[in-house]
Amino acid sequence: MNESPFLKLGLIEPLQKRLKEKKYNYPTPIQEKTISKLLEGNDLLGIAQTGSGKTAAFSLPILQHLSSKLSNNKLTKKIINEKLKEEKSKPIPHALVIAPTRELALQIGESFESYGRYLPLSHTVIYGGIRQHYQVAALTRGVDIIVATPGRLLDLIQQGYVNLKKISHLVLDEGDLMLDMGFIKDIEKILAKLPYKKQTMLFSATMPKEVLKLAKNVLNNPVRVDVTPQKIILEKIKQYVYLIDSGNKMNLLFDLLKNKKMRHTIIFRKTKRGANHLGRKLVISGFRAETIHGDKTQVARQKALRQFQKGRARILVATDVAARGIDFTEVSHVINYELPNIPENYIHRIGRTARAGSEGVAYSFCDVSEKSF
Ligand code: AMP
Repeated sequence: MNESPFLKLGLIEPLQKRLKEKKYNYPTPIQEKTISKLLEGNDLLGIAQTGSGKTAAFSLPILQHLSSKLSNNKLTKKIINEKLKEEKSKPIPHALVIAPTRELALQIGESFESYGRYLPLSHTVIYGGIRQHYQVAALTRGVDIIVATPGRLLDLIQQGYVNLKKISHLVLDEGDLMLDMGFIKDIEKILAKLPYKKQTMLFSATMPKEVLKLAKNVLNNPVRVDVTPQKIILEKIKQYVYLIDSGNKMNLLFDLLKNKKMRHTIIFRKTKRGANHLGRKLVISGFRAETIHGDKTQVARQKALRQFQKGRARILVATDVAARGIDFTEVSHVINYELPNIPENYIHRIGRTARAGSEGVAYSFCDVSEKSF
């Protein structure tokens, strides 16, 4: 008989069924290396970036653990236990996933929704930039899984809206970015509110000292898994650099955009101002372009991403933070209007193309001041 590779990893039928529907035929390397270890209850230090399949690697075991916990509770409930009865009518959060950006948190929320379709588990996504009303309402109704960005989560914890007493699973996603964005204090405050005994998973694309320090503090004898998809992906990306005066970059860009093969292009800019300026210029010139950066409202960012994802916009102008975690398989070209001064950012940027086995092209515009980058 043809045995599903996901069965071999120990996943239950409702999850396997869903993966089959999603046409996930084989686990990705991170899934292969982590799922059974996580099902056994180990802590995990995962060196992996968006695109590796890490979201499924942590969310599938969490869904499985919580669903078996829930059915055990149901059995006990039959016997008599008022407290558990209460728990059934109003779920209490058992898993908490913390991610640095709203986009990433929303994507993780969608993953839980999708993978957990055949399990009776609920989740909500908590993030800043919008009014808290709906988030508070969801928390008050009760959820099994919370996906959150650190700032708003801490805010709602401090207002007394989040019950963390039963958290048995904690995920810190994109650890390096979380620290880069200055969330360490918020995270420490959140960690201090969580039960001591829990399964903790920390993911990070890179492993600078600060992340290792965090790992040491939060993980208990973790399994360490290192997948470096960058190498594989990079081979599929044709990379070009234009040495050019900064004053000529706009002309070069417009020339390049004449190429019809540039169907779905992300243009990276260093600053929010630069992104706005370029976005406007493109629209005025008749291009279907959208712009995202950290100062845009959540609604505007989601709308822009949707327009781009659905092909209604051909160009997305973005800053680094706003673009991290964007995962569309259709991005054909990435343009670095300015060269990033951090090598990892370059990798993350060009890694937005050549997803899911397709090929991609990356152009970088480099003026004299950027040569050393
Ligand atoms: P992630 O790194 O979690 O953001 O996942 C990257 C992309 O890979 C997402 O679009 C997933 O839907 C997809 N994906 C995850 N696991 C698999 C798999 N085993 N087979 C095919 N696609 C997958």
